[in-house]
Amino acid sequence: MSDGEHSSDVLIVGGGQGGAQTAISLRQLGFGGSITLIGDEPEPPYERPPLSKEYFAGEKTFERLHLRPATYWTEKAVTLMTNETVVQVDAQAQTVQTASGRVVRYGVLVWAAGGSPRRMKCDGADLAGVHSVRSRADIDAILAELPGVKHVVIVGGGYIGLEAAAVLRKFGKSVTLVEAQARLLARVAGPTLSDFFADEHRAQGVDVRLGVGVACFEGQGRVSHVVLADGERIETDLVIVGIGITPNVAVLASAGAEVTNGIDVDGRCRTNLPNVFAIGDCANQASKFASDARVRIESVPSVSEQATTVARELTGQGRDHDALPWFWSNQYDLKLQTVGLSNGHDAEVVQGDPATRSFSVVYLREGRIIAVDAINAAKAFMKGRGWVSTGASVEVLSQ
Ligand SMILES: Cc1cc2nc3c(=O)[nH]c(=O)nc-3n(C[C@H](O)[C@H](O)[C@H](O)COP(=O)(O)OP(=O)(O)OC[C@H]3O[C@@H](n4cnc5c(N)ncnc54)[C@H](O)[C@@H]3O)c2cc1C
Repeated sequence: MSDGEHSSDVLIVGGGQGGAQTAISLRQLGFGGSITLIGDEPEPPYERPPLSKEYFAGEKTFERLHLRPATYWTEKAVTLMTNETVVQVDAQAQTVQTASGRVVRYGVLVWAAGGSPRRMKCDGADLAGVHSVRSRADIDAILAELPGVKHVVIVGGGYIGLEAAAVLRKFGKSVTLVEAQARLLARVAGPTLSDFFADEHRAQGVDVRLGVGVACFEGQGRVSHVVLADGERIETDLVIVGIGITPNVAVLASAGAEVTNGIDVDGRCRTNLPNVFAIGDCANQASKFASDARVRIESVPSVSEQATTVARELTGQGRDHDALPWFWSNQYDLKLQTVGLSNGHDAEVVQGDPATRSFSVVYLREGRIIAVDAINAAKAFMKGRGWVSTGASVEVLSQ
C-alpha cells in the first residue's frame, strides 16, 4: 500500500441515513473490524426528513438532525471521511478512489450513495433563485434568500413540494404550486388523498395548479418568472423544484454493477459484484409488497432495514430483507402515515370522513389490502400495518 492509501474491512460510500445506519448496526451486532464511512457532504451523517419540515420551519436546529453525536463515531472506531467524493470503484482490486486522489482498499464495499435531485431541463433552470431540496446546503441557501422573498413557485406536487409549501405558508409567503400531472401525489397515492391534499393546501392559501407543466424560467441572472406550458407567466422571487431524484449509480455501474431502476441487489442487498452491497435510495430490490416484484423505495424505514440486513449478513446472522414499507409526511397540522405500496391498486376504501381531517384510505388489489394511508389516524395506521403485512382480505374492513 502506498502512503496515500487507506484500508478498511468495511468501506461505506455515502454518509447519509443508510451509510450511517450500516456502521451503527455493525457495531451493535458486535462487528470488530475496521469501518470507514466516506461522504461528499461536509457534515457528519444527519437525517433528511426534517429538511423540508422542522429544520426548514426553524423548529429544530441542525445539531438535532445529527444521527449520532460527533463523539459517537470516534468512540465506535468508525473513520469518517467527509467532503470526499468517490469517483471510481475497482471491483477486482477492491479499491475506490476519491476526487481528491485518495485510494481506499476495502474488504467489503457498501454503496449507500442515495440520489440527486432531478433538475429541470428547460431554459433558465440554472438561474439563481432556482433551488432543490435534498441537503442541508440546499435548505440553508433557501433560508438565506427568504427574507427578501414574497412569492415562491414550487414545481412538483410530491411530498417534498407539499411540505415546503406548508412551511412557506407558515412564514406568510405567497405560494404557487405547479404540478404537471392531473393530481397531487400521483406517483404514490390514490385520488382521494390527492384531492384531500389539494383542498387542504388551497384552504391554506396555496395556489395549486394541476395538469400544467413548466415551459421555462426567465430572469436576468436571477429567476423572475416561471413560464407555464399554457403560456402563463407567473412572477416569482424564488423557485423550489421538487420533481424526484435520480439514484446515484453511475460510479458503481462503471465498475460493472447491474442497474435497472437503481442498483440491482438480492435479498441480502448484495450486488452482482463480489463483496459489494447497495442499499437505500439507489438500490432496487425484490419485495413481496411491490406490484412489479422489484422496487426502489425512498424512505428512512426502508434504508434503515436494508442497512441492518447488510450488518447481519456481515456478522453471520444473515436473512433476507422483507421489511414492510412505511413512510410519513407532516404538512400543517396533518400527520400522514402510510404503510405498504399502493401502486397497482384496483380499488380504494375510505374509512372515516376526510372532512373531519382524520381518516384513512385502504388500497386493495384483487380483494387484498396492499396499502393504507392514514391522516391524523394513528390507530388506523397500526391496524393497516397488520393488514398489509398479512395481505388481509377486504372482509376485515367490515369486521
Ligand atoms: C427533504 C426530504 C424529506 C424527506 N422526508 C422523508 C420522510 O418524511 N419520511 C421518510 O421515510 N423519508 C423521507 N425522505 C427520504 C429519506 O430521507 C431517504 O429515503 C434517505 O435519506 C435515503 O437514505 P440513503 O442513505 O439511501 O441516501 P442519503 O441519505 O441521501 O445519503 C446518501 C449520501 O451519499 C452521498 N454521496 C452520493 N454520492 C457520493 C459519492 N460518489 N461519494 C461520496 N458520497 C456520496 C450523498 O451526498 C449523501 O450524503 C426525505 C428526503 C428528503 C430529501
